[in-house]
Amino acid sequence: MGDRLTQPTTPYVEVALQARTARLGRLLTYAVPRAWTPRPGQVVWAPLQQRAEVGVVVRVGVFPPAFPTRPLLAILGDRPLLGARQMALAAWLAERYACSLAEALSGFLPAGARAAPRVRPAPDTLATLAGHAGADRLAAAFRRRRSLALAEAAELARVAVVADLLRAGVLQAVLPDALPLWEEQGPISLPALGSALTLAQHDAYAALRDALDARAFASFLLHGVTGSGKTHVYLHAARHAVQQGRQVLVLVSDISLVPAAERRFAEWFPGLVAVVHSERRPTEQRESWARIASGQARVVVGARSALFTPLGDVGLVLVDEEHEAAYKQQDVSPTYHARELALKLGELAGAVVVLGSATPDVETYWRAREGAHRLLTLPRRYLPPAEPAARAAVVVPGATSAAPMSDGAAPASAAPPRPDLPRVQVVDLRAELAAGNTGMFSRALLGELARVLDLGHQAILFLNRRGTATCVICRDCGYTVSCDDCLLPMIYHGDLDRLLCHHCNRRRRAPERCPGCGGRRIRYLGAGTQRVADEVRRHFPRARLLRWDRDTAAQRGAHDRLWDQFASGAADILVGTQMVAKGLDFPSVTLVGVVLADASLHLPDYRAGERAFQLLTQVAGRAGRGQQPGQVIVQTYSPQHYAIQAARLHDYAGFWERELAFRRTHAYPPFRRLARLIFSDSDEARCWRECGRVLRALRAEASASAQAAQLIGPAPAYLRRLRGRYRWQIVVAAPAPERLLAAAALPSGWTVDVDPTSLL
Ligand code: ADP
Ligand code: ZN
Repeated sequence: MGDRLTQPTTPYVEVALQARTARLGRLLTYAVPRAWTPRPGQVVWAPLQQRAEVGVVVRVGVFPPAFPTRPLLAILGDRPLLGARQMALAAWLAERYACSLAEALSGFLPAGARAAPRVRPAPDTLATLAGHAGADRLAAAFRRRRSLALAEAAELARVAVVADLLRAGVLQAVLPDALPLWEEQGPISLPALGSALTLAQHDAYAALRDALDARAFASFLLHGVTGSGKTHVYLHAARHAVQQGRQVLVLVSDISLVPAAERRFAEWFPGLVAVVHSERRPTEQRESWARIASGQARVVVGARSALFTPLGDVGLVLVDEEHEAAYKQQDVSPTYHARELALKLGELAGAVVVLGSATPDVETYWRAREGAHRLLTLPRRYLPPAEPAARAAVVVPGATSAAPMSDGAAPASAAPPRPDLPRVQVVDLRAELAAGNTGMFSRALLGELARVLDLGHQAILFLNRRGTATCVICRDCGYTVSCDDCLLPMIYHGDLDRLLCHHCNRRRRAPERCPGCGGRRIRYLGAGTQRVADEVRRHFPRARLLRWDRDTAAQRGAHDRLWDQFASGAADILVGTQMVAKGLDFPSVTLVGVVLADASLHLPDYRAGERAFQLLTQVAGRAGRGQQPGQVIVQTYSPQHYAIQAARLHDYAGFWERELAFRRTHAYPPFRRLARLIFSDSDEARCWRECGRVLRALRAEASASAQAAQLIGPAPAYLRRLRGRYRWQIVVAAPAPERLLAAAALPSGWTVDVDPTSLL
C-alpha cells in the first residue's frame, strides 16, 4: 500500500537528457506509458527528434503540459541509479556553477549508463517481432545478432515502430551493469596501530573523533606545516570512521598523487581501499564503483572525480592539499571546485570534512577565521625520536660550499627561523651574473649539489617548465617561432629535436634559417627541465638522474614507476616540474633547488602571489623529511618579492595578512566572487561582437534584477588564441555571479567558469 502513495499523480515526468544537443537546455517533459513507474534518479531512454537519448528522471508527477508530449521509450533497471543525495548534489552543482542539470548529473552516471542505447528482443518474441507491421527487417537482423544499437534498429524499422515495440515489451533495453546494493559488512577488523601520535597530532585527531561521534556535518581546516604528519591524523580519523561502519573519501589533487596515497591507506586498511580517477581503464573503474556501492570498499582514494562515486554511508571526507588549483574543473561544465563539492557532500551526508594544507587557500583560511571551519594546527614538523642526536652531528649547511652565500635579505649567518623546517636560502641571480656566473646554477646551488652527492643523499631540482628552450628567436630580425594555432612561443625539446606547442601539442622541425629574414643566427633562449637535466649531466657526469615532467610521465603507470625509482635510491637527483613539488615524501632528500622562481611571480593574475608562495613552500617542504636536516636554495631575479620572503621565513600568517589586505583593497575574492565567461570562435570579429551582445544583456539583467555586479570586458583572454580559435572574455564580479548568469542563457560557444582559480 505504501508504494501506491509514492506513485506519480500525473503520468508525466521531467527528464535531464544527456545528449550533447540537449544538455545545454532545460528539462524535457515526457509522458509515462501506463503501468510504468519511473522514479527520480532512474535512467531512461527518451525520444529526441529521430533519436533515442539517455536521460535521468528529475521529477515525477508533474502537471500535464500545455503542449503534446512524447512517451518515454524505456526505463533502465528497476531502481534509481542515482540516490536522493546525488540528485541533491547535482542540483546544487547546477545552481552554483551555472550549468544545466544534465551537465551536473553526468558525472554521477556510471560509464555503462552513458553508453549508446542498445536493444534486443525479449525472450521468445522473435515470432511476434517478425509478425509486427514494419518490423520484418528488424526481425531478420536479430536472427543474426543478439543486440543492436538503437540507432541501427531505428534504421531497419521506423522510430515509431521501435518505440511501440519497446513499450509493448517485445524489444528490451540492454541494461548497463547494474550497481550492487549496499551490504552491511559487519564488524571490520583492522591491523593493530604501529605508531602513536604526537601531542599536536593527537589533539587534532581527538577533535575529529569527537565530531565523527556526533554523526553530524562538521568542517575543519587542518593547517599543518610540510612534514608535520597530516597523513597520520587522516589515517587515525579514517580508522575511527571505518570502525563506526562508515565510508571514508580521501581526495588528492592530482592523479600523480593517487599511488602514494593508495599505498599509505592500503597499509592501514588492507583489502578495503578502492581507487578512482579519470584515467583508469573502464573495467577497473566499474569494479571500483561496484565495490563502493556494495560497501566492500570502506576507503575511497581518488582525484576529484571520486566525489561522484556511489558512496553509501560516508562519514569522513578528507581533502588533502585543499589549496591546489587542480581541484577546480576549468574547461568542462560543471566548473566545480572539489573542495566546495566535498563540503556540500559532507553537509548532505552528515559527514566530517577535513581540508588539509601547509599553505591553505587564502580564502579557506579566511573562512576558518570567520568561523565557517574549525581550525586545527600542526605547527611543527614531525621529528622521529632519534632525531636530535642525528641532527646535531650533521655539518652546518653551507659550511663546505665553495662560494659565499648571497642571501637576498638576511645575512647567511642569521639563525634559521625554524629549526624543524628546512633552511631556505634565496640566491639573487643578478648578483651571480655580476660576479661573472652566466650558468643556470648559482655557485651556492652547485656547491650544495656536490655536497649532497658526496654524502650519498638525494636532491630535487625544480623548474616549472618542461622542454629545453622556451623561446627560439632570430638574433637579426627578432622573429620568434610560435604555434600557428595558439600564437604562443613554441618550446624546443632537445630529445625529440622538435619544437612543441605546449597547448595543442603541434610539432615542427626547428628552423635552420629564420622564416622571417632568412638569417642563420637563431638562438635558443630560456630553459626547461630538459635543459636543467643537461646542465646537471655537464656538471656532475656521474650523478644518476631522473626527470619527472609531463614528457617522461606520459605513459600509464609512469608516475608509479618514477616514484619507485627515486624512492628506492636508484637516482641521486630528481629534476621536475610542479609534479615533484607536491606531496612527495622522500626521507633521503636533503636539498631542494628552485632553479628559477620568477616565472610564477609575475603573471597577470590576482592569485599570482598566492600561487608562487604555495609552490615555493610546497617544493621546499620536500627537503629534510628524514633524519637529516633539509636545505632549500631558491634562485631568483626578484629576491625581495613578498612571496619569496614569506616562503623563506616559513611565514604563512604574515603572507596571509598581506595577501588578504591586497584582496580587500581591490575587492577580489573572498570579498567578492568572480565568474569568467569565455567565448571562442575562429573569427575574432565574431568574438567581440558576441561578447558585446552578452555584456549588454548582462548589464540589462543586472539593473532589472537590482543585482550589484561589475562587468569587466570584453577583452581578449590571456591565451588569446588557442588551437586555432580566438578567445575573448567577460569577467563578472558580484556577490552571486551565478544568479546573473542563470538568467542570461548563454548560447553554445561560451565557457562559464564560476569562481575561477585563475584569470589566465
Ligand atoms: P605532511 O603530509 O604533513 O607533509 P606526512 O604525513 O607526510 O606530512 O609526514 C611526514 C613524515 O613524518 C612521514 O614520513 C610520516 O611517516 C612521518 N610521521 C608523521 N607523524 C608520525 C607519527 N606520529 N609517527 C611516526 N611517523 C610519523
Ligand atoms: Zn598550439
